[in-house]
Amino acid sequence: MVCQQWVEVVTGYLEGTLPPALQDAADRHLADCPHCREYLKQMRRATFVARGLRDDHVPPDVVDALTRAFAEYRSGGTSTS
Ligand SMILES: [Zn+2]
Repeated sequence: MVCQQWVEVVTGYLEGTLPPALQDAADRHLADCPHCREYLKQMRRATFVARGLRDDHVPPDVVDALTRAFAEYRSGGTSTS
């Protein structure tokens, strides 16, 4: 596995959704490659922040507003209100 391939599978790697063989290959690349280890660290932080948006310490009205904003965005961004 080369860095570019590794970067392509990093999301699945973090979510644990990779097939075992690929997870294994990613692990082995990670053991050899300080660059990808650093990248993974940054990805983990980004994922953590993204998950934080759904955590309990975010006020419910903020979550609600975000949910509606996303729903609007997904439905084409048209606001009729
Ligand atoms: Zn690498």
